[in-house]
Amino acid sequence: MIVMKFGGSSVESAVAIERVAGIVRRELARKPVVVVSAMGKTTQRLLTMGEKAAAGQRDQAFEMLRSLGEMHEREIARLLPAEKHGDLRRILDCHVREMADLLQEVADLGEFTAKSVDALSSYGERLSARLIAMVFTAFGIEAAHVDARCVVITDSRHKAAAPLYSQTYSRAKEKILPLVSQNKVPVLGGFIGSTEDGVTTTLGRGGSDFTAAIIGAGIAAVEIQIWTDVDGVMTCDPKLVREARRVKTISFAEAAELAYFGAKVLHPSTLLPAIENNIPILVLNSRRPEIGGTRIVSDAVSCSNLIKAISCKRGVSIVNIRSTRMLMAHGFLYRIFEIFSRAETAVDMLATSEVSVSLTIDDPARLAEVCQALREFSEVSVEDNQAIVCIVGDNIRHTPGVAARAFGALQGVNIRMISQGASMLNLGFVVAAGDAEKAVQLLHREFFRSADPEVFDEPAVPAI
Ligand code: ASP
Repeated sequence: MIVMKFGGSSVESAVAIERVAGIVRRELARKPVVVVSAMGKTTQRLLTMGEKAAAGQRDQAFEMLRSLGEMHEREIARLLPAEKHGDLRRILDCHVREMADLLQEVADLGEFTAKSVDALSSYGERLSARLIAMVFTAFGIEAAHVDARCVVITDSRHKAAAPLYSQTYSRAKEKILPLVSQNKVPVLGGFIGSTEDGVTTTLGRGGSDFTAAIIGAGIAAVEIQIWTDVDGVMTCDPKLVREARRVKTISFAEAAELAYFGAKVLHPSTLLPAIENNIPILVLNSRRPEIGGTRIVSDAVSCSNLIKAISCKRGVSIVNIRSTRMLMAHGFLYRIFEIFSRAETAVDMLATSEVSVSLTIDDPARLAEVCQALREFSEVSVEDNQAIVCIVGDNIRHTPGVAARAFGALQGVNIRMISQGASMLNLGFVVAAGDAEKAVQLLHREFFRSADPEVFDEPAVPAI
């Protein structure tokens, strides 16, 4: 058994869904279980219409709902024979009516509560799973829609519910395995779940990867495929370096560092259930299925290159905090982090000296409040428009001289902060945002002069 998860852009239109059916068909012998996201930007559209309803813009909200219904009907009808169009309309009418009732409730209340956010946003995946299962059947793939809310049982923390694993795993076995043994392809919506009392919840934005990992672990799949619209993990952003290469295999720890520092391919914490159960994850491009993607595995991947990839995260601010009180006072760091924690502002990178601390944040929304509190016991300065450039690779940990090579390569670039994470898989530099592109290019040239063919693909665009 394998789990195949298709993200929003992979199921955004009739053409995209037809491609997905082809991809699933080629894997039938491996007994696929399919997890789908909502079509295209449906989740965002549902959230926006809920906000509009709450803000008194009821007509606009209903107009958005109408056009969302139309989009589903237009795209799915293209894939179904005429005799199924009546069924399609009935399913859509019923769902649209329920969504309209919800919008009306939100409008009456004047508030889009977390519970109604989940109720409304769940419709994206509820619809896509149901309709895509119909399309598969029309294409001759024997499919069965499974309401993921009957499988993924969660706590009641709306908008970011946590799965109750043992119940979810037994439900997964109970609901999915019999279908697979009848040679059916179960199709579930990602992102959604329900509490033990049957109240709809969601796992948080981007939660469909999490669903795939949970289902994979629950049914002991041999592989989880995450189909998206990129070729996988790249040695760096191909927009910055033309000769960027696809990384064929990477460890989970490396992928986690990359994601943390800017690579947007996936959110590794959502893959934990799979990694803990030693299930390899493949990130693949549904537009270019022939490209092999990236395999993410639990164990380290041996590689003759010192690093696997370079990440770049822009929009970062440095906060410099200098103690105005006695030197070496204990509790200085505690007071600092307590303030950031109270303001729910995450800190990415940290460098300390005896009397000062520099750290970076990527969300300045509550920075003014943070600075005000910090100024009670320190001098504070903020530098906006910075970027974190990170080199990531397991070999950094046991190879001397990596930092020297990186610094050598970065000659001419003003490095504002340096940090080697405790995992020792990464070495990060903060540079002015304007220098980030050059820094990535210089590091890529230094560390990927040649590339281990076992681990890296040929560059998509050959170097000139
Ligand atoms: N549809 C949800 C979202 O847009 C979940 C997902 O696609 O992973 O966040």
